[in-house]
Order: sequence, then C-alpha cells, then structure tokens
Amino acid sequence: MTVFLVGAGPGDPGLLTARALELIAAAEVIVYDRLIPASALDGAREDAQLIYAGKEGGGPSMPQGEIEALVVEHGVAGRAVVRLKGGDPFVFGRGGEEAEALRAAGIEYEVVPGVTAGVAAPAFAGIPVTHREAASAVALITGHEDPAKPESALDWDALASFPGTLVVYMAVRRLGEIASRLLAAGRVADEPAVVIERGTLPDQRVCAGTLATIASVAGAEGVRAPAIAVFGEVAVLGERLRWFEGRPLTGVSVAVTRARAQASGLASTLRALGAVVVEAPAIRIVPRLGRLPDLGRYDLICLTSANGVEVLFSGLASRGLDARALAGARVAAIGPGTAAALAEHGVVADVVPERFVAEGLLEALAHVPVRRALVARAAEARDVLPEGLRARGAEVDVVALYETVAEPLADSQLAALRGADYVTFTSSSTVRFLFDSLGDGARLAARLVSIGPVTSAALRERGVEPDVEAERHDIEGLVKALVADVGVRWAGRP
Ligand code: SAH
Repeated sequence: MTVFLVGAGPGDPGLLTARALELIAAAEVIVYDRLIPASALDGAREDAQLIYAGKEGGGPSMPQGEIEALVVEHGVAGRAVVRLKGGDPFVFGRGGEEAEALRAAGIEYEVVPGVTAGVAAPAFAGIPVTHREAASAVALITGHEDPAKPESALDWDALASFPGTLVVYMAVRRLGEIASRLLAAGRVADEPAVVIERGTLPDQRVCAGTLATIASVAGAEGVRAPAIAVFGEVAVLGERLRWFEGRPLTGVSVAVTRARAQASGLASTLRALGAVVVEAPAIRIVPRLGRLPDLGRYDLICLTSANGVEVLFSGLASRGLDARALAGARVAAIGPGTAAALAEHGVVADVVPERFVAEGLLEALAHVPVRRALVARAAEARDVLPEGLRARGAEVDVVALYETVAEPLADSQLAALRGADYVTFTSSSTVRFLFDSLGDGARLAARLVSIGPVTSAALRERGVEPDVEAERHDIEGLVKALVADVGVRWAGRP
C-alpha cells in the first residue's frame, strides 16, 4: 500500500489540487495539519479515520517522531493513508523527513505537491514573486529555524546580496530581527516590503512598508501567523496589481441553508465574490420514486425544480426509458435552474415563465391549450399550479417526486450561522426547517435574504421580515440582490 504525502495548498479550498481531492476522497486514514483549508476534509469518506497532528490553540503539536511513527504504522497495516499538509509538503513542511521514515520502513509513497504559501499569498496580494524587469530570482527562506540548532544555518549576509525577491515563511515573530540583519548586511532601507497575513483566505490582510519600516508597520497592525513576508522590488507591484480585496462581498459572511447537494453552486459563487461562506444545510432531498405515470398521456408536463428533474430522469432510467418519454408533451419549467437541468438531459423546455413561481407559469401558459397535464414536483408544494390548470378545464395529475426533510445541524454550524452577516433562503422549506432547528422564537441578527415571494411568505409566517428579496427568483437573482444590499449598507466602510 502507498502512503500519500499531499499538499493541501495555503487555505483557499480552490487551491487544492485535483489529485489531492481524489486521494482525500479515497483515504481510509488522513493525518492532517492545522493549516489546511477548512473544507479540505469535506470530501473524505464517512468511515475515514481523521487524525489531527497540528497544534491546538498554541499548544504543542504532535512531536514529529510521533507523526512519522503514526504514518508508518498505518502504512504497514496496509491502509490507504493520506498525510495532508498545508501548502506544499516539501516546502518547510517536514515532508522530507516523513518520506525518509517511510523509505526506512520500506513503505512506498507518492508525493503530491501543493500550492505553496510563499508564492500563493503574494499572488493573492497582487505580487508576482518574479518579474521580467524587477526580479529574476526568488529565494524561499524560513524565518523560524529549528530552535534546537546551535546556530543559524542561514547566512543573512549572503541572503542580503541575493539578486532577487526574498520570501520569508514563519516570519512574524522575528520580523524586526530579520529586517535589521538584512539592513546591516547592506540591503537598502527603502526596499519595498510586504507582509501577507492569512493569504488566500477571505480575511487576508496585507501590510506594506519598506525594509526599514515593515516590522513596526506589521507590529502596529497586529499581524499574526500565518503570514509571509516579501522583500524586493516586486513587493510594490501589489499596490497596482491587487485584486483580491475590494471584491463585492469581501469580508462579508453569508450562510447558505440549501441542501448540501445543491449548495455548492451558490457557495462557490459567493466565495468568488469574496464572501466567507457558512454552510448550514437545513434540508435534505429524499427521492420518492413511486410509480411513474405513463408520460405519453399528457400534452403538458410541468417541472418545478432541478431536483424534480433529476429524480424524474433517474426514475425514467431505472425503467429503461430516456428523454424520449417526454416527446409527446409540451414541457414547462419553472426557473432557469429547472430548464438547465432539463437541458442536461437533452430536453429544451418549451415554456419558461418570466417570473419563476407557479403563478408565473400559469400566466405563461395562458394561451396554451392544455387537456391533460402532469405536475411533477416536491411532495409538499403549493397547489397553485394544479388548481389553476384545473380551473381552465384541464385534467391534472400531480406526482410527488421527492420529499424535503430536515438536516440536523451541529451546534458549531448553528453558532456560525448566528454570527453570519447574511442568511440566504432559497425555498420555503429551508425557512421552515432552519427555524425549526433554531427553536421557537428564534431571532437572527443577520440580514435575511429571500429568493422570492413564496420564501418571503414562509419567513413572515415565522414572524420575521426578509430584509432583501430577489427580483429574479433564482440563484443568480439572489446573489445580485445580496450584492446590491451589501453595496448600499457597507458603502463607506473601509
Ligand atoms: N508547507 C507550507 C509551509 C509550512 S510552514 C507551504 O508550502 O506553504 C508554515 C508557514 O507557512 C506559516 O508560518 C506561514 O509563514 C506560511 N503560511 C502558510 N499558510 C499561509 C497563509 N495562508 N498565508 C500566509 N502564510 C502562510
């Protein structure tokens, strides 16, 4: 069995490599460090053994010898072991020592490089560590050497004359000392210097100064580990090339309550806009595939959600059928998400109303003759659509494709949700189940964002008024409304 020494990148979950995700998903044992992305283990198997080897709140980390023994032990036992480290495993990660221990024990290993903080944090601060005009070389340096070493292995005099960018890891505590040694060794006092704290994470901070001032600037700003220091001409480019801060949702925390299986699109859109996403899935979708009616009987088939489309098509597939089963009918979809799900199965919806609610679909169908309609939807849905169609003389069957049930939330998730700036609701069931788990009379300090009138009504039923309601009742519309609200409310904030 192979042990995998895997880099998890500097913190942004998007910087985990494809290989890392694949190995995490397959691992039986994961021995992980502190500085890995918070969500890095989300894709691990439910039965995987997760072993924390990092520091707990400033306490001592597991001694290196113990970590090596642990990895060897599980490797010998023939289990699929991932040793997951922040950044790159071979850049100040002691991955080399672990590889040696594995080799000595005769265990095969594979090294999966990661995006290293010394390159990624500057990049997220708009600083290219090399530049055709400004730096033809870059040195990766540790600011914190093994305290057991009798004397520094680092020749600061030599580093001062290094012709390029100096990138210092673990620099915070000794920043003043490092800067003075470089100055004393002849590096120029007004050389640009930058410290990047929690690089690539939503709360990344950048402090800029010169070699002479950076230690006092960083001290005044209270910069803490993890941070990377950059010395060199390139450091000044961040002023012009910065891109990460100042995005529409930078620093805003937003809770996503939709089902885990659907949350990723919304969560990644929000993250890309700079938000800190709190994942608090209040609901789960349970397919309820009973008997499917013969679709050939209908001249109109209405689908009300992407979930419904997925369940319908897996139902068709299990009966050896495909999109052609819908061939005889007009297909109507509420909302572009539903239409997109249909398109993935090769069906272009004939009717997509402008307003993404049942009433909108009825309007859109006003001049469409309907004799027999099928409404395929969630078990607990409003009856506006079937009743409206019946009122026009159509014969209507309703099939419940899935049920929405409560997803229990951990205390930590509820606490994070309570601390969020915004809570998003994408359906009335997210409202119902979330307020159920919050308990009676629950109040949220956050601003509440509703996807549309039906969800807003569910909020009012719980005695709360939505602060923001999307104009377009889909995910895109919801994000747009949230961004606009942040723009108005946070205007003028630093
Ligand atoms: N193997 C890691 C480095 C581990 S040493 C890598 O390749 O990135 C730990 C140091 O890395 C921290 O003290 C800090 O200097 C740096 N570091 C790790 N994550 C960081 C981040 N998100 N932002 C800034 N520095 C970070």
